[in-house]
Amino acid sequence: MKEKNVKKHLKHYFLHGQDIHSVSRKTKKFIVGKKMNKRNLRARLATVVITKNPYPEPVTLSDEFCPKCGCEASRYTGNMVSYPELWARSYCLRCGFLLGEADNSPWVYALEFPEYDYKLH
Ligand SMILES: [Zn+2]
Repeated sequence: MKEKNVKKHLKHYFLHGQDIHSVSRKTKKFIVGKKMNKRNLRARLATVVITKNPYPEPVTLSDEFCPKCGCEASRYTGNMVSYPELWARSYCLRCGFLLGEADNSPWVYALEFPEYDYKLH
């Protein structure tokens, strides 16, 4: 893709407050790419290796993506409370699924919880 187009897409995206649903289809496609099909997504989920680390390090994931749609783009909220408290979240850019969270805790990934259908709450 031409560099001029890349800048145009990113500009639209940031102008709309990083909300993927308010940009054009072309820009959306450019940023989040093609949607993964269910079969490939299940296969990819099955290959994720979770390695536990000593506290307070978060776990290490062999792969990081949205367990609902396979998208790799995410939106990070930043810390939503004031220091020294910590509450931050990361959402899938495409479908809005909660991908990870730190609530005065090490970072927790939705991918760590297949037994809860990848739901953190
Ligand atoms: Zn998603």
